[in-house]
Amino acid sequence: MILSIESSCDDSAVAITEIATNKLLFHKKISQEIEHSVYGGVVPELAARLHAEALPKILEQCEPYFDKLKAVAVTSSPGLAVTLVEGVTMAKAVAVALDIPIIGVNHLIGHIYSLFMEKETTFPLTVLLVSGGHTQVMEVKNLREIETVAKSMDDSFGESFDKVAKMMGLGYPGGPLIQELAKDGDRLAYNFTVPLHQSPLIAFSYSGLKNAVRLAVEEAGEDKEKYKDIAASFEHIATKHLTMKLKKYFKSHPPKTFAIVGGASANLYLREQIKELLKPYGAKLILSELQYCSDNAAMIGRVGVDMYKEGMFSSLEELNISPKSKL
Ligand code: ATP
Ligand code: FE
Repeated sequence: MILSIESSCDDSAVAITEIATNKLLFHKKISQEIEHSVYGGVVPELAARLHAEALPKILEQCEPYFDKLKAVAVTSSPGLAVTLVEGVTMAKAVAVALDIPIIGVNHLIGHIYSLFMEKETTFPLTVLLVSGGHTQVMEVKNLREIETVAKSMDDSFGESFDKVAKMMGLGYPGGPLIQELAKDGDRLAYNFTVPLHQSPLIAFSYSGLKNAVRLAVEEAGEDKEKYKDIAASFEHIATKHLTMKLKKYFKSHPPKTFAIVGGASANLYLREQIKELLKPYGAKLILSELQYCSDNAAMIGRVGVDMYKEGMFSSLEELNISPKSKL
């Protein structure tokens, strides 16, 4: 079995995965959303302190599995430095105490592997990752060969939802809150410009849209009814930007199997629109279960199983956090 630990942002999570079957035997996650909500975003030092409290509590519950563990897998990149350290330090302590190897896992590969919970992997894949820190398209051949073919030049898709929610005083995380508000709004009420719509670049940008939404929110003032239309129009344009750029990319790289991963892949409007986009290509869409879209340790454990099988271990002395590492 593999013990896995995730602490790259505001979720403290630990899982146990069976190597032979990919079966998830234990998974517990303690989210810090309520604590960060008052600040409208994650406060790194507060997050680190909460991880230091939560992780040992969850680890204690894994004690019955300790004698069966073959390795410990831990998110070591990318993420917040002060929170990654909490997980990596605990993983090293476990590795030393149980005399087992350690595996440093890239969190973004974790999101890709959320597609393969309790399953075998199916590559190759074209993947859209939409999360709090990333918006990128990747061609994934296998665990070792991942090529990023398009990415955001500024804010990420999920982050723009968080910022719009903050402007409206809704709380954090913004994605589900905006999605809920948008349900009753008119998607065409506000004619926001689709980012980079005239640019030949296959890249993403959300800061301009965010600023346009800010002006609309200011203009709406206390008229909360208008917030519904702003949310719906924002969600529509934020998604249209993704589908327009993907369509451009597909001209030279028609998709066969396409996946959406990351916290914001839970967005239902995005899922619907991507489904429509893929129809003319006859491409298959694969999605993670909603519970594994946001950060969790189960996906890190699933990567851990494949890295274990390929002997991709880190040395205890050399495994270090790498907060900014990309794919
Ligand atoms: P990264 O994975 O890039 O390091 P992260 O781990 O902080 O960043 P995730 O936990 O994967 O990000 O995703 C969280 C993001 O997903 C937040 O920005 C949140 O608002 C967004 N999100 C969650 N649900 C939805 C939704 N239904 N619609 C849009 N965005 C959503
Ligand atoms: Fe994440």
